[in-house]
Amino acid sequence: MFYSKRHLKSSYWVVSCLIVLCGLVVSCTNYFYELEQSKVSQFKAGQVFVQKIYTALEKKGIQVSAMVSFIQSLNGPMNPEQFDRMTASLRSEFHSPKTVYFFSKYVGQKNKQQYEQQQRKFMKDPYFAITPPGNRHEYLPLTYTSPNDFPLGYDLFSPYFTDREQNILARNNHSLLLSKPTYIGFNKGPKEQILAPNALLIHHSIYLPIDLRGDNFTDENGFYGVVGLHVKIKPFLGGLGAGSNGLAFRITDTTDKEAPGILVYDSESGNDSSLWQKDRFNRYSFSYGGRQWQIDTCPYRLNHAINWFRVFLPLLVSLLLAFLMGSYIRMFYFAYKKSLRSISYRIERDELTGLSSRYHVQKQFDHLLVECKESSSKLAALFLDLDHFKTINDAFGHETGDKLLLKVSQRLTSVLPDNALVGRLGGDEFLVLIKFKEEQDDFSVDNMLKEMILQLSQSYFIDNRNLNIGCSIGVAFYPEDGHDSETLVKKADMAMYQAKLAGRSSFRFYDKEMGAQFVRNVRIENRLRRALRHEFLELHFQPKVDLKTERCVGMEALMRWNDEELGVVSPAEFIPVAEQTGVILALGDWAFEQACRHIVEWQQEGLQVPPIAVNVSAVQLKRPEFLTNLLGLLDKYNVSPCSLELEVTESILIEDAKGCAELLRQLSRLGIKLSIDDFGTGYSSLSYLKDLPFDCVKIDQVFIRDIIEDQSHAALTRAIIRLSHDLNLQVIAEGITNQAQLDLLREYGCDIGQGYLFSKALGANSMASDPIIMALNQHQGDSDH
Ligand code: C2E
Ligand code: MG
Ligand code: MG
Repeated sequence: MFYSKRHLKSSYWVVSCLIVLCGLVVSCTNYFYELEQSKVSQFKAGQVFVQKIYTALEKKGIQVSAMVSFIQSLNGPMNPEQFDRMTASLRSEFHSPKTVYFFSKYVGQKNKQQYEQQQRKFMKDPYFAITPPGNRHEYLPLTYTSPNDFPLGYDLFSPYFTDREQNILARNNHSLLLSKPTYIGFNKGPKEQILAPNALLIHHSIYLPIDLRGDNFTDENGFYGVVGLHVKIKPFLGGLGAGSNGLAFRITDTTDKEAPGILVYDSESGNDSSLWQKDRFNRYSFSYGGRQWQIDTCPYRLNHAINWFRVFLPLLVSLLLAFLMGSYIRMFYFAYKKSLRSISYRIERDELTGLSSRYHVQKQFDHLLVECKESSSKLAALFLDLDHFKTINDAFGHETGDKLLLKVSQRLTSVLPDNALVGRLGGDEFLVLIKFKEEQDDFSVDNMLKEMILQLSQSYFIDNRNLNIGCSIGVAFYPEDGHDSETLVKKADMAMYQAKLAGRSSFRFYDKEMGAQFVRNVRIENRLRRALRHEFLELHFQPKVDLKTERCVGMEALMRWNDEELGVVSPAEFIPVAEQTGVILALGDWAFEQACRHIVEWQQEGLQVPPIAVNVSAVQLKRPEFLTNLLGLLDKYNVSPCSLELEVTESILIEDAKGCAELLRQLSRLGIKLSIDDFGTGYSSLSYLKDLPFDCVKIDQVFIRDIIEDQSHAALTRAIIRLSHDLNLQVIAEGITNQAQLDLLREYGCDIGQGYLFSKALGANSMASDPIIMALNQHQGDSDH
C-alpha cells in the first residue's frame, strides 16, 4: 500500500520530467532545424549577393564594350563632343554617376606632334601635350575622360604610371580586362608616392580593321587605343546593399594562384574582422575580366534567421503541460492518499468498537513477534470470549448487543496496560497482545487477568437495563507455547475453551496437556464418526429408584463406547467433543433410535420397562426439526411418548431460554417427561423452573458425592429439594454410592435416587436378569394379579 503511494508520488515527478524532456527534445530539434534552415537561407542570400556583384561588373563591362563598338564605328578621329555624348548616354542608361570613363589613344612616336596638334584643335587648348614629357617609342595618352578627373594627355604607357602593366595587358588582349585593386597615380617621376588601392579599372583594347586605320595612328596590328572605366571600390561594392541584407562580405582577388589573395574589399574592415576567423562564413567564387574573385559572406548574427518562437514553443507547451499534469497528478495523489488512509483505517479498525480489526491485529502480531525475537522478550496472547453473549443478543436485540460490545471493549482497553494491543476477532471474541516488560512476572499477569475478568463482569447499564456478562480468557505465551501467531492464537483459543469448560468467567494458561487433549479430541472425533458408521456404540441403562418404595421408576440411557484403538471412552469425554464438532446430532438420533428399539424389544419380550430418560444436548434441541424427527421415530417404533423422558442441562436454558421454552412445552404436552440434568453446577437460576414445564430436577452428583462431609453441599441439596417440592417438581439425586448418602437424602425428602448403590448402567441384554428390573416385573406381575 505504502509502496503504491510512494510510487504515485514519484510518478508525478517522472511524468512531469518526461513531458518537459519531450518538450526540450522537440525544442532542440527545432533549434537545429532552424539553424540548418538559417544556414541554407544565408547561403542563398550570399549567392544572390554574389550574383549581384557579378551583374554589376557585367554592366560595367557592357559599357566598356559599347564604347569599343562606338569608337570602332567612327570614320575618323573621335572629337570631344562625340565622347561626351557617348559617355552621357552610357551614364544615364546604366545609372553610373560616379564612374569615370576614359579613352586613351595609341600614338606612335612619329605621330606624336600630329596627335598633339589635332587634340589642341579638338580641345581648343593650345598647350595640350603628352605628359610626362620625354621621347618614348609609343604613347597611350589619355585623350578623353568623363568627368574630367584625370589629366588629359597623360601617357598611360609612361613607366611612372601606376597602372601601366594593365594597359599593356589590355593592348595584348582582345577582351575585357578587370584590373586588380589599384590606385591610379599619374606620376611625373619615379619618386611619386604610391597610395593604397581604392579603385578598379575595366579596360578593353580597340583594334581597327585595315580599311579604317587611315590617319587614325594605329600600330601595325591596328591597335587604336584603350577604353575603360574607373570605379572606386568602396562606393561601387558598398552600394550593392551588403549591409541591408544582413551580410558582411569580403572579396579577395585570387587570380594569382601562387601568391596570397589580394583583398579587394572587406565590408567589415575596421569593424569586426574577427568574423572571418570563425570559419562560419560561406564562400563563393567567380571569374570576370580575366580575374578570379573569391567572395566570403557572413551574416552579422549567425542565427538571425532563426524562428525563436518555433524553437521555444514546444518547451513552453511542455512546461505548461507538465504543470497541468503535475497539478492533476498531485490532486489525484492527494485524493488517493486520503482514500487510502480511510481504507486502511477501515481495514485496520473494527467498525463497531474502534479496536484493531482481525486483519490488523494479526499483522501487528507478526510485527510484535519479530520485535520480541530481536529483543528476546516474552509476549502474551490473550484470547477472550464473552460468556453467553448470544443470550443477550437474542434477548435484547443486536443493537443492545452492539452497545454492550462497545462498552466491553472500552472497559477492556481501560484495564489493560498501555502497551497492550487489543483487537476484535469478530462476534464476542477479542485478542489481546501484551509484550512483557522484563520486570513483569507471571504473578502480575495473573493479577491482570483477574482484574480483567472482574472489571468486565461488572454490570453494564444499557438501554435502561442492567446487563451482566462474564468472560473467559485463554493465554498462550511466546516463546514457550509457539513461535508464530497462528499457533499462539490457536493455543490461546484452546486455553480459552478450557476456561469455558471450567465454568466460565475464568482464565487458563495454555499447557501441553491442552495440546495433547486437542490431539486426542481430534482422534476421538474421527474414531467416533467411524464408530457411528459401524455401530460400535452401545446404549446402557441405569435405573432410577424411588427412595420411598425402593422400586425402579425409570432408567437413564447412557452411551458406551469401547473403541479398538482408544479403548473405553467415557461419554463425559466424547460427548463434549461430539457437541463441539456437531457429531452429536447423529449421535443423538442414534441414541433415540436405540432407546425406542430397546423399548419395543423389551415389550416384545414381555418385560415391563419404566420410562427411559435420554440425555439431549443443547445443539440437538436447537435443531428446528428436532420435534418432527422425534415424533417420526415414536411413530416408526410405535412407542408411546410416556415411555420417554428427556434430560437437558440447564446450560441450554441460559443460552436460549426463549427458544427452548416453546419446544419444551410442546414436548410436555405430548406427555414426554422433562428433567433438568446436573442441577446446581451451572447458573442454578431457579426462575425458569417455575415458568417451564419440567417434571424433575436432577441434583448433580458433585453435591451428593460429599454430602456427608461437606455441610454446604448438604445445605444446598436440602434447599434444592425444598424449593423443587414447592414448585411441584420431583427431585432425583445422582451418583448415590453409599447408604449414608441415601439415608440423608431420604431425610431431606428426596424422591428418587440414581447411583452405583442401586445399579450401574446395564447393557440391554442383561436387563431381564437385573434384580431391580426383575423386582419391578415381579411387583408389576403382583399388582396385575
Ligand atoms: P449424566 O446425564 O449426569 O449421567 C450420569 C452420569 O453419572 C453417568 O456417567 C453415570 O454413569 C454416572 N453415574 C451414575 N451413578 C454414579 C455413581 O454412583 N458414581 C459415579 N461416580 N458416577 C455415577 P456417564 O455414563 O459417564 O455419562 C456422563 C455424561 O455424559 C452424562 O451425565 C451425560 O451428560 C452424558 N451422556 C451420556 N450419554 C449421553 C447421551 O446419549 N446423550 C447425551 N447428550 N449425553 C449423554
Ligand atoms: Mg443425564
Ligand atoms: Mg447428570
